[in-house]
Amino acid sequence: MSKLSLKDTITPHIHGKIANFTSTHSPDGIKKLIVVDVDGVLFKGQFILHLARFLGTAVCIRTALLCLLFNMNKISIQELITRVYAGFRGVMLSHAHMVYKNIPLIKHARETIEILHNHGYFVVLISSGVPDIFVKDLAVRLSANDGYGLGLGTHSERLTGDVFGQLFRPDGKKGLVEELLTKNNLTWQDTVVIVDDRNNLDIMHKAGITIGVNAHYTVRQRARHLIDNGDMSEVLDIMDIEDADTSKTLFAGMRRQFTHSWYQEIRRKFLHVLIAFVPLISGYFFHTTLLILFSLLIIYMISECMRVNGYSFPLLGRITRLSIRKFEERDFAFGPVTLVLGAILSTLFFPAVIASTVIWIVAFADTAATMVGRSLGNHRIPYNIKKSIEGSLAAWTVAFFCGCIYLPLLPALFAASISSFIESLPLRSLDNLLVPLGTGIILTCL
Ligand SMILES: [Mg+2]
Repeated sequence: MSKLSLKDTITPHIHGKIANFTSTHSPDGIKKLIVVDVDGVLFKGQFILHLARFLGTAVCIRTALLCLLFNMNKISIQELITRVYAGFRGVMLSHAHMVYKNIPLIKHARETIEILHNHGYFVVLISSGVPDIFVKDLAVRLSANDGYGLGLGTHSERLTGDVFGQLFRPDGKKGLVEELLTKNNLTWQDTVVIVDDRNNLDIMHKAGITIGVNAHYTVRQRARHLIDNGDMSEVLDIMDIEDADTSKTLFAGMRRQFTHSWYQEIRRKFLHVLIAFVPLISGYFFHTTLLILFSLLIIYMISECMRVNGYSFPLLGRITRLSIRKFEERDFAFGPVTLVLGAILSTLFFPAVIASTVIWIVAFADTAATMVGRSLGNHRIPYNIKKSIEGSLAAWTVAFFCGCIYLPLLPALFAASISSFIESLPLRSLDNLLVPLGTGIILTCL
């Protein structure tokens, strides 16, 4: 398909990315090997789980348990695949094919691969869990250069339960990539791997560029880039930055990141200031407020455990993904936990006026410190270079006004000084907990 007709068929969302990408790379330009994992990256979920669901509850539970054992590092990929496909013995190939055809794909998979392919990248789909015939068919559907999957034994159009082939062997993926590199006169440095689970750690270790898509924890820790928004076209942005050869492209990338960072910071702080409702509601519904806060805490922790393992909790997972900072993507984001815990403990243990003061301080003073510090902060605090004197002054001023609402002038001055000092310390997300507790304890003693 020509570039012109491609642009005509894609959504405006991806249009800008293509325009940018097209302007900086010629079809004869940089050539890299792009290795794309199928299960969990191109496919939403895993082929074996989709097929197991089709075959009934008992097979589905058995397969899900085996996948869980693999994810917990209790069994190898070979053992997982052998045992799962042994359970598929007798399944008609046409049924497996129908399941494969109905698996939803990640957004913009075809458009992204087509663009990469058209710009001289060699794109291969590789899977240790999906049958070779389906991976090859998928490669054709998505305009990839080639596809490699698992060899499956069949007899009279039914699966025999046997599995074989290079990708079934330990180091199979690494060996296959090495063959492709030799054939295309490329090196591991020219390799981009787009993966989600620990079955790809050996190729990630050697590749020049690593991208985790809905990545599990171990991949999340090692990948240079992460895609958590379920949109494959993010790969184009990443390749644009990685392969940028003009200052214009680099600038465009930086500008995009800057804009994103501010939107993200505003979303984040909007959620942060919602904690200010706690003192307003707890005065009327004390127990209900605490119950809601505890419930939110538990739901958030479940959502975060899922996120760092490549899964998304409905709604909350999306809100978190849109609000966390870049460096928080790889680990559990503790900010909301300490924020809610600080509000719960303050409500439980401090007199109402002190609890209200410290919760409002953590809601508004911290927000003021971030906003002023990020936009005007030029003078670093000597004991914490990540924070600025301007940000701390803003925190002090806002904390003082919060204090004046509930306290006499002198305690309000104390509250502002103590809280802005604690806020300025290098405590990372613990400040959400230590600002209200530290300030509250000292105010209670006074
Ligand atoms: Mg995978």
